[in-house]
Amino acid sequence: MTNRKVRVRFAPSPTGALHIGGVRTALYNYLFAKRHGGELLLRIEDTDSQRFVPGAEAYIIEALQWLGIHFDEGVSYGGDCGPYRQSERRDIYRKYVQQLLDAGKAYIAFDTPEELEAQRKAQANFQYDATTRGSMRNSLTLPAEEVERLIAADQQYVVRFLVEPNVEVEVDDMIRGRVSFNSSVLDDKVLYKSADDLPTYHLANIVDDHLMDISHVIRGEEWLPSSPLHVLLYRAFGWEDTMPRFAHLALLLKPEGNGKLSKRDGDRLGFPVFPLRWVDPKTGDVSSGYRESGYLPEAVVNFVALLGWNPGMEHSEVMSMEELVQYFNIEKCSKAGAKFDYEKGKWFNHHYIQEACNERLAELLRPRFEEEGIRYDQAFVAKVIALVKERAQTLPELFDQALFFFVAPTEYDPKTVSKRWKEDSAAQMRALGELLSGLQPELPAGSTEEQVKAWIEREGYGLGAVMNCFRLALVGAAKGPHLFDITALLGREETLRRLEHAINQLG
Ligand code: GLU
Repeated sequence: MTNRKVRVRFAPSPTGALHIGGVRTALYNYLFAKRHGGELLLRIEDTDSQRFVPGAEAYIIEALQWLGIHFDEGVSYGGDCGPYRQSERRDIYRKYVQQLLDAGKAYIAFDTPEELEAQRKAQANFQYDATTRGSMRNSLTLPAEEVERLIAADQQYVVRFLVEPNVEVEVDDMIRGRVSFNSSVLDDKVLYKSADDLPTYHLANIVDDHLMDISHVIRGEEWLPSSPLHVLLYRAFGWEDTMPRFAHLALLLKPEGNGKLSKRDGDRLGFPVFPLRWVDPKTGDVSSGYRESGYLPEAVVNFVALLGWNPGMEHSEVMSMEELVQYFNIEKCSKAGAKFDYEKGKWFNHHYIQEACNERLAELLRPRFEEEGIRYDQAFVAKVIALVKERAQTLPELFDQALFFFVAPTEYDPKTVSKRWKEDSAAQMRALGELLSGLQPELPAGSTEEQVKAWIEREGYGLGAVMNCFRLALVGAAKGPHLFDITALLGREETLRRLEHAINQLG
């Protein structure tokens, strides 16, 4: 690495929800910046008004905040290089487009969409480039007065980049090594459209990377084919010295491993491909998100970080954000696509639920309690969570595991009933109730267990028979944590109520 100060950017286009692949790009930029003591910017690339989707920008910002991917500068963060929303930078781009025109490195083209379409029909593989631009309607073929006249008459035009043919362009990619391209494969890309007085992605992207002093460009593989054009633009402006280094991240693949991961795979296999729930403003379609599906952000971060990178054998795969920063190495990212292994994501979430403090988990479940109209007492909920969380992979599962502590069973699992509830069960449970009535109201786990077991022995009952029916009465099924941990949380009165109810129901 050179001595240049590391400045990287995440530069999404607000065209919809941020896909999990975009989350990974943002995360790797973050890790890279922190790893090298650098800065991370958030730039919104919204120059394509056709693809603009309302709400997408706010979604992106909220999602990254939720994940703990914080920025040093950018939209909603501020900073010295603003505005950071490209639609607010028209004046800047206009100046740089003019600079290329003046230097003869770009030209004005008047060809209408219909004319271009006709060319494409007439000529297979038509490309607007050195071989064809001489026969099109542009400032290279038309007299200067005609060009001026057309502009004065408000004819719509575009500015195209003049790509010299047969130039070898090398992109030194931090992940892929040297990738070389011949400029003849490129067309004369549109850099600016008079119709909306806005530059296209390519121009805005390069100008901003330069003005914002970006040192490294870390982005998805789909941008690799654009990179030679970007190198040529840097050269055309005379900015080679400050050209960023590139790193193109390999695709995220379907769980089966063939083809690019899509939203449809998520729908098909039942997992989210978005960080937060997203409601498409046009269609009203709802896509699930990791947050609403009950994932902890640190689990998502850890899981996503490992899609295409790993810390090597000497470190555990379980890593906090700080550890990720410490071990992250962009050059160790895989060139091959990374299979999206959703089961692993669940495994991480289970792990982080175990690590999470119970009060925090309780707080995360609070809305669910309110929704269900269950009185919420944080301290009590936290105690319940401590008992049941081992069995939960997601927050909704945690809620389901906890629920019987708050809502007494009204029905009893029929299979367990027919297997466990015998003729003498009601009498035994009634006797157990009498025993418990004489104990402390808190039913402390240890002493209650001792007393109940001693009583069973005295009476000559089967330990299993009594315990299974007792559990059935308290939980409604043959599940749940240690029985005397349950009674200790329910307390004597609630335990007696549940016994009573089971005796009445099951007879
Ligand atoms: N706006 C582009 C995108 O949506 C940014 C690509 C880049 O990082 O250069 O992915």
